[in-house]
Amino acid sequence: MAILDRFGRPLRSLRVSVTDRCNLRCLYCMPEPDYAWLPKDTLLTFEEIGTIADAFCDLGVERVRLTGGEPLLRRDLTSLVRLLAARPAIRDLALTTNGVLLAAQATALRAAGLHRITVSLDTLDRQRFREMTRFDSLDAVLDGIDASAAAGFESLKIDTVVMRGVNDHELTAIIEYGRPLGAEVRFIEYMDVGGATRWSPGAVVSRREMLEALARYYGPITPIDEESSAPADRFALPDGTIFGIISSTTEPFCDSCDRSRLTADGVWLMCLYASAGTDLRRPLRAGATADELRHLIATVWSSRADRGAEERLGSSTREALIPVSALKKDAHLEMHTRGG
Ligand code: SAM
Repeated sequence: MAILDRFGRPLRSLRVSVTDRCNLRCLYCMPEPDYAWLPKDTLLTFEEIGTIADAFCDLGVERVRLTGGEPLLRRDLTSLVRLLAARPAIRDLALTTNGVLLAAQATALRAAGLHRITVSLDTLDRQRFREMTRFDSLDAVLDGIDASAAAGFESLKIDTVVMRGVNDHELTAIIEYGRPLGAEVRFIEYMDVGGATRWSPGAVVSRREMLEALARYYGPITPIDEESSAPADRFALPDGTIFGIISSTTEPFCDSCDRSRLTADGVWLMCLYASAGTDLRRPLRAGATADELRHLIATVWSSRADRGAEERLGSSTREALIPVSALKKDAHLEMHTRGG
């Protein structure tokens, strides 16, 4: 039985960041020359993640997504997948990755029980990939996507953050790339989350603009009418190809948000825009019982009243959410610590 927050939103989905480290430096997420990292001894062990996941599942969570930083940098991630996949309460176990290390791990992740996989891919152009991520890893990512398509996941998605003047002319190319692989492409509006220190309103390509551009190329686009708490609205092209748009910046969907996030060191956040979270590591390491953990989680969720993206939309002057100086003092404010 799911518990509800103050707006009636159920606690149903948990995103677990397994590391704050990343092997790319994406323009929209980690554009700075250096970062403060979480101390190693604060990272939750797989056993601790399992204990926390159990408390969440007892309270209604049935979907878990592993993320980061780059989750495939966490040693022996397949063991964590196996441990979580063995819990029947987790009906949907997914992973978001940049794909750089995926080719060697896709089959093992599937065999360990991972249901679904989402790979971030912002461009198909090698030079642009280097400019957007600072690394020459496009071929590795494409190999990772091929390996995932072959591994037989229940679903394979490609997530693309769209930035004006950077990759906004590649929407159709990315859809065409995903189609034969059976990968559903989702375009994400550039968000002013912590870490997006170069964000400006002008760099955002809105959902409306994306739909107009795609309709000019493909013809009429049909919205798919479905009840869902998934962040993407889905659409069909005239030939039936499905794609999604995540419009957190211009048309937020806080109303249906049943997601919360656990950082790699056990801080539980209600919202990507939250200024602080609840430390679950400390009570866990101090010997809290399962009942005490459940009580803490239930109390925090039932008093949740955030509508972060909607509040951002309502603010009159909009610029990067958090200045670099503040990010340097608190790694928990970073998107790469919170997990996307
Ligand atoms: N390293 C993994 C990856 O690249 O998918 C997982 C972590 S990454 C933080 C998760 C997601 O957050 C990615 O799809 C990324 O594109 C998205 N993201 C990061 N910063 C963003 C921003 N400023 N606006 C929109 N999406 C963003």
